[in-house]
Amino acid sequence: MTTSATQNFLCEEFQKQIPELLALSSDSDPEDHPHARACPDCRQLMRDYATIAEAAQQLHRFGFGTDEWPEST
Ligand SMILES: [Zn+2]
Repeated sequence: MTTSATQNFLCEEFQKQIPELLALSSDSDPEDHPHARACPDCRQLMRDYATIAEAAQQLHRFGFGTDEWPEST
């Protein structure tokens, strides 16, 4: 794997990495990725994904979908 191919990164390949990039985004801006910078479509997709992920986290926080916590007993 070399970094010289990042511009040719396939959108499909990049999109597979979006969850990972977002998971690491506490340290760095995920939109700082070379492909996200070069590809508006993927940048938008990443934002959509981040919005969904955030909403899902909030649902978890409020207890939706977590009726049974194994460690709560
Ligand atoms: Zn793309």
